[in-house]
Amino acid sequence: MTTVVNRRAGAIVVAAVIATSLGACATATSNDVAPADASRSANSAASPATNQSSQAPSSAVSVDWGDGKNPPGMAEGNPNPPGWYEAAFGKRTTEKVLYLTYDDGPYPTTTNKILKLLAANDAKATFFVLGRQVDVFPTYADKIVAAGHALGNHTQDHENLATRGPTVIRKQLTSVQKSVGPSLGNCMRPPGGFIDDQAGAVITGMGLVPVLWTGHAQDWAPPSTDKMIEMLKEATAPGAVILLHDSIDKAKTVAASSVMIPWWKKQGYRLETIPACRK
Ligand SMILES: [Zn+2]
Repeated sequence: MTTVVNRRAGAIVVAAVIATSLGACATATSNDVAPADASRSANSAASPATNQSSQAPSSAVSVDWGDGKNPPGMAEGNPNPPGWYEAAFGKRTTEKVLYLTYDDGPYPTTTNKILKLLAANDAKATFFVLGRQVDVFPTYADKIVAAGHALGNHTQDHENLATRGPTVIRKQLTSVQKSVGPSLGNCMRPPGGFIDDQAGAVITGMGLVPVLWTGHAQDWAPPSTDKMIEMLKEATAPGAVILLHDSIDKAKTVAASSVMIPWWKKQGYRLETIPACRK
């Protein structure tokens, strides 16, 4: 019973987020997720003058986050919850746009290298930062935003939100908002991908859009750089959301990024910030 109530609460808040969004749904069909309400679109009162895509979260989607026991999308057999993509992005685009994400930073050695690579390739990314890292390296949130990237909330202490109650979940998220300030986007990524119906309802109730991913290079336990590159090429698709990390000891992530960012550009992909994370 509780699950159903939470799910409904989450859907209501997602609808509220949509109502204030400036973006319109991209015209596309989804090939790996359940279709959203094709008739729904938001009014575009002030479209950005850039060529950035303007996908918007879809209020038509009520995500069943499940019990949170399995980290979704981390391995075969644990698919992401159906509908999460539409809830975060609206419909899947057919445009060659790709959303690169770096989690668990900032960590100066790694973050600086990633920022340089992105700048050199005219690419943008979204950084899901930890509050505890921002507290130690407080200049980096501004540095990331000043370079044109977006910031998302990855909790204060990398907590598994599927094992925590509403009070701790709110505290973990508001701490980051306090540390980063107004440049933090209204989006979050649950650490480890762990999210359940209760956490989903609390998160959306705070006006935050949960963002998972569609591909990764397993850089939390990295294989060879060549294997990581192969995984990232396989994950490449219009609208793909790529999970990487700019935390400590991420030499292979930097190496793979240095190959892949120019490769994506050469393939005609625009590397953009996640619309729900933009300020
Ligand atoms: Zn993380």
